[in-house]
Amino acid sequence: MAEKKSSEGKKLQEKLFMKKEHAMKLISEAEVKKADKFCEDYKKFLDSSKTEREAVINTINLAEKNGFTEFIPGKALKAGDKIYYNNRGKAIILAIIGTEPIENGVRIAAAHIDSPRLDMKQCPLYEDNEIALFKTHYYGGIKKYQWTAIPLSLHGVIVKADGTKVSVCIGEDEKDPVFCVTDLLPHLASAQMERKASQIIKGEELNILIGSRPFLDDDVSEKVKLNILNILFEKYGITEADFLSAELEAVPAFKAKDIGFDRSMIGSYGQDDRVCAYTALQATLVCKKPKKTIVTVLADKEEIGSDGNTGLNSSYLKYFIYDLAKAFGADGWRVLTNSECLSADVNAAFDPTFPDVNERHNAAYINKGVVVTKYTGSRGKSGTSDASAEFMGDVRRLLDKNKVIWQTGELGKVDAGGGGTVAMYIANLDVNVIDVGVPVLSMHAPYEITSKLDVYMAYRAFLAFMEE
Ligand code: MN
Ligand code: MN
Repeated sequence: MAEKKSSEGKKLQEKLFMKKEHAMKLISEAEVKKADKFCEDYKKFLDSSKTEREAVINTINLAEKNGFTEFIPGKALKAGDKIYYNNRGKAIILAIIGTEPIENGVRIAAAHIDSPRLDMKQCPLYEDNEIALFKTHYYGGIKKYQWTAIPLSLHGVIVKADGTKVSVCIGEDEKDPVFCVTDLLPHLASAQMERKASQIIKGEELNILIGSRPFLDDDVSEKVKLNILNILFEKYGITEADFLSAELEAVPAFKAKDIGFDRSMIGSYGQDDRVCAYTALQATLVCKKPKKTIVTVLADKEEIGSDGNTGLNSSYLKYFIYDLAKAFGADGWRVLTNSECLSADVNAAFDPTFPDVNERHNAAYINKGVVVTKYTGSRGKSGTSDASAEFMGDVRRLLDKNKVIWQTGELGKVDAGGGGTVAMYIANLDVNVIDVGVPVLSMHAPYEITSKLDVYMAYRAFLAFMEE
């Protein structure tokens, strides 16, 4: 009797309980291989796209190879046309015109291609005790102490007095020098270690070491600074004043690598949110003859609140969709009202070393698939777009139908902190939006970690959404 009862219970459990299993248990060996292969190109993209500008350049290259051409406002469009719009070299929109009327709405995937980093100040260069340094202003939410004593590379552009622009990328090639923020030796850090963690390294202490040999001439002062400027003049033809009109960003010089004996994970700088940018981009590139028009936007400035004309709090996405609508004689607002969006951004993965910040029933875990996040925000869901049950239901059915391994996630315990994504800015355009992305360990650290299976499931999720 007891045995029969337990098997009935088991049946009932099978029917009524929700399962959350490791993706390996749910997919075939062949699909695991596909995921691993997919991630090889992903790592290359990470290494060559460490800034929003580089991500845009690489996206355009891939898009053009796949038949996308630059959007020309006013030019007639038809189903199957593939276009891209480059917003100031720092954000990009790709679109594939669908077979359905555009009034039915478009399908938007929105990821961001900026990541936390150290930006050079406008007057960055100085010499102190015969050491040359750059002053920085950090960009995005970082634990400042994590950015000392690691190799940094320098990326960006400098606009010279005559208006010509030079691109900079030093520290990525094996033969290049790298740069570094110094930290105190533990022997002399007793006062420093008494500071609060947020102050262990202060903002004004994030100074980057760039040189230490003097220009040999007794007639001049600041000889090390002069020597550095001389090197820069010879290489780029720039003077100190040209830093005034430059955007130079210091990022970790590490390359993306497999993590673990089983090579199941990827460690790299900038996976928030290039992991969603890359997977959404790949889905867009392979998507064939979609019914709904596909709009994939890779935005800038998310890490500082999406403000600025390349961030999604600006109107460029709206204007682009209005332009598409106009090409078909439709109203832009009607297109937006009928549109749906996956806000493609990462979520925090449960970390067994720091279990207390998560509520285990609602945390996201690595290897359990792409994370669907109904709401983010903080202090009682402030600063988020809380997706409706109906739209969540649509996304749930879509992922299940396409056998995408997925889970839900919440960004930490209630009142543990919080954060936001671009979801609310797109929701403000009267679009149905939900956050979908990859769980990440050590998010916003110089070296972030994802699971290969989750990366692949994000790609599968975006493709399913586009091809439905
Ligand atoms: Mn993000
Ligand atoms: Mn972020």
